[in-house]
Amino acid sequence: EPIDLYALSQNIIDELAMQAKKEKIHMKLDGSPAWIQGNPAMVRSILFNLIDNAIKYNRPEGSIRVQVSNSQSEEKREAIVRIEDTGLGILPSEQERIFERFYRVDKSRSRQKGGTGLGLSIVKHALRIHNGRIELSSVPDEGSVFTVSFPMVEMDTNSDQ
Ligand code: ATP
Ligand code: MG
Repeated sequence: EPIDLYALSQNIIDELAMQAKKEKIHMKLDGSPAWIQGNPAMVRSILFNLIDNAIKYNRPEGSIRVQVSNSQSEEKREAIVRIEDTGLGILPSEQERIFERFYRVDKSRSRQKGGTGLGLSIVKHALRIHNGRIELSSVPDEGSVFTVSFPMVEMDTNSDQ
């Protein structure tokens, strides 16, 4: 099914607006429509979990910027969603582990944010099914950037090779 990652991001931001408002976190979406083929519920769970985390592990009055884009390169066409927060950040030694099932960083647990530690393992699984990728870049006490990319499936079924 065709899915527009920009419209989907807007929809999730609207859904999480109350939660963000409680902590006075400002959310901003920019970019342009980016269409992929996929399972709508699974793609939604990817973006929902990442934006939910960006709120939960942010600081009061922090901000979140979601950017949706299409990659420029001709040979590798991808749709990209970049989620940037001004939160706790993640130590380099924890950056791989947070994608494991039930893993939660102690620091966040001590902040008593609820959660089961499953969100990012679901993200990883759903991305694998969609041939997508995730990248993380984070600075402790400054914030994190999660970047997900999906291959853009050509609607054209002809192939020369
Ligand atoms: P759930 O998503 O199941 O409600 P959770 O948020 O704890 O629970 P994950 O989404 O898998 O689980 O995240 C795992 C851990 O990674 C979190 O507990 C938190 O310690 C850390 N983490 C995830 N996203 C961020 C972020 N944006 N900034 C800082 N830490 C994060
Ligand atoms: Mg989570």
